[in-house]
Amino acid sequence: MTEQYLITLLPGDGIGPEITKVTVEVLKAIAPKFDLELSFQEGLIGGAAIDATGNPLPEETLTMCRQSDAVLLAAIGGYQWDSLPRQQRPETGLLGLREGLGLFANLRPATIFPQLIDASTLKPEVIQGVDLMVVRELTGGIYFGQPKGIFTSETNEKRGVNTMAYRESEVDRIAKVAFEIAQKRTKKLCSVDKANVLDVSQLWRDRVTAMAANYPDVELSHLYVDNAAMQLIRNPRQFDTIVTGNLFGDILSDEAAMLTGSIGMLPSASLGATGPGVFEPVHGSAPDIAGQDLANPLAMVLSAAMLLRYGLNQDLAATAIEKAVWQVLEAGIRTGDIMSPGMVQVGCQGMGEALLEAL
Ligand code: NAD
Repeated sequence: MTEQYLITLLPGDGIGPEITKVTVEVLKAIAPKFDLELSFQEGLIGGAAIDATGNPLPEETLTMCRQSDAVLLAAIGGYQWDSLPRQQRPETGLLGLREGLGLFANLRPATIFPQLIDASTLKPEVIQGVDLMVVRELTGGIYFGQPKGIFTSETNEKRGVNTMAYRESEVDRIAKVAFEIAQKRTKKLCSVDKANVLDVSQLWRDRVTAMAANYPDVELSHLYVDNAAMQLIRNPRQFDTIVTGNLFGDILSDEAAMLTGSIGMLPSASLGATGPGVFEPVHGSAPDIAGQDLANPLAMVLSAAMLLRYGLNQDLAATAIEKAVWQVLEAGIRTGDIMSPGMVQVGCQGMGEALLEAL
């Protein structure tokens, strides 16, 4: 039976429209092979939305997103909007989208493609075969805890305060997402905290440990965040799925991403309890190369694969896209950012054509 899905596209700014075009062509090519009927609607976000409406996230865009099955976002931002007041900046649109859709789980895979192993600054023998997923809590922890602010004491000294706080229910819901992702992968989950020092982390560890009883097939381990940061560089292959809070996840997901060395290859997903997830490349709008057919569309294409797997539960279609990316790299086809001697350089569109051929 054909399954029907509505996808909201948010091309945004800079290279966004170019990489969106390629990604949609890939999705349209893959859909009939897996009995999927995908329809698309396009919304404004970021600088493009500011120029058209004065608002980086028009209400209409949020409504469109809420009514769809998944949201595919390219990138937002650019120099021309950097001096606007904070409320009118492109980034405010992105934060509003995450909040509006209740996206509390951020998924950041770091996968080494053997064809691009030289892009990493680490030794090939250390990173060969790395394929891990960082699951970061996105809406709680120290970035949102109260009290926060800069306060002046009776002795007239200023004191800056942020509060790291997690409720049981917040830990439980992110742990549930992480266990379920680990089940879809190699069934190994490592929870990262600082339970030797922080009470909030002790609660985190207790709840994650309690949750493990529901997932007897998943092997759970715990690491302190300082050790996790070292282990990611020393022996990243030991990890499969990592779950952690907002602050630690912010740092570790970027560290894990840099194991790969190539920003144009990194996808991500943000999920809520119900409703559509948002799938987007990790990189920004790359205004320096926008409109020149130089962008690497693969991070967004791989985000579309995550959309199929984690947003629509279409694992086979997701794997087919990932295989096509693999084949194109295997054939030596590269955009400028991942180019190396002896390979064939193509533009954004050329990469799209190669993917369609591989599919
Ligand atoms: P960036 O990721 O846009 O670019 C960093 C460098 O990587 C640039 O040299 C760029 O050309 C290159 N690059 C990035 N993506 C590429 C791709 N797909 N193919 C080839 N090369 C690529 O980061 P930046 O320069 O710090 O920021 C530019 C704008 O993007 C800013 O306005 C920033 O606020 C915004 N930004 C948006 C997001 C997002 O939408 N999630 C994330 C980061 C930055």
